[in-house]
Amino acid sequence: TKSEGRGGYCFYEAEMDERIEARRALSTDLRGALDRNEFLLHFQPIVTTDGRVVCFETLVRWRHPTRGFVSPAEFIPLAEETGIIIPMGEWILRQACTIATEWPSDISVAVNLSPIQFRHSDLPLLVRSALRDSGLAAPRLELEITESVFLEATPAIKATLAELREMGVSLSLDDFGTGYSSLSYLRRLAFNKIKIDQSFVKDLPHEQSGAAIVRAIIDLATSLKMTVIAEGVETEAQRRCLLNLGCHELQGYLFSRPVPAKEAEALASRQGLR
Ligand code: C2E
Ligand code: CA
Ligand code: CA
Ligand code: CA
Repeated sequence: TKSEGRGGYCFYEAEMDERIEARRALSTDLRGALDRNEFLLHFQPIVTTDGRVVCFETLVRWRHPTRGFVSPAEFIPLAEETGIIIPMGEWILRQACTIATEWPSDISVAVNLSPIQFRHSDLPLLVRSALRDSGLAAPRLELEITESVFLEATPAIKATLAELREMGVSLSLDDFGTGYSSLSYLRRLAFNKIKIDQSFVKDLPHEQSGAAIVRAIIDLATSLKMTVIAEGVETEAQRRCLLNLGCHELQGYLFSRPVPAKEAEALASRQGLR
């Protein structure tokens, strides 16, 4: 009836207002979080086919004073909208490089970069400075960048990528398969690794078409001399399937959840995770 419809509408509006208000409050909190030291880094191992740790991916965590841990899926978009991602991203990069110097020298560190950092900061300058100040060797740093950055790769973006590669850092394409770019194009943009998005891994080994897509990605990437990492590996069956398809490196809860720096250091000195 009419009255129900209107009631529904009012309810919807109130809910919208509440949500907007909650976001506003959260972004106010976010503004001071860096100064209050509320961010910390967790690290998740990436392993070779025989279970040896070759890298840790840096994943930021926010310990909110009253709300407890807030998911990066919630606060990273907010940090991007407000521009806080710039100082926050700088802190993450510097901190990750410093922590990685404590690991054996054959283990690298991967750091996620926001597209905003790409467009609105002098990234090569920051990376050079983070490497110099921490003493981390450039080849031990892997920068993870999502495909969306390159939908319209401007000359400036191409120059930034080239400069980073010349410094000797490694470039990984994150969440591959969720966008539309062609792999050969991305290869020309100097990427040396791709990470197959976990949505493809989730359906393995049961989904026939999923396996076909993953196989096609791995075959093409391998022919382009790129290293392929599968993320979100949770089961032994998925691991076996990915190894059969020729995947080079694996990451997921099957091996380890993201862990604090202290625990990462302990994992780093172990022989193998499986
Ligand atoms: P991402 O870069 O694709 O990171 C992988 C996400 O998958 C992480 O979630 C990780 O904890 C989770 N994951 C790892 N293994 C498994 C698994 O086996 N199963 C499942 N279901 N999930 C798994 P997290 O830590 O919540 O981060 C979410 C997203 O937030 C990241 O996605 C990334 O886009 C962003 N993010 C996290 N840390 C940073 C950062 O330091 N800087 C930037 N710019 N973004 C970050
Ligand atoms: Ca990532
Ligand atoms: Ca990813
Ligand atoms: Ca993702």
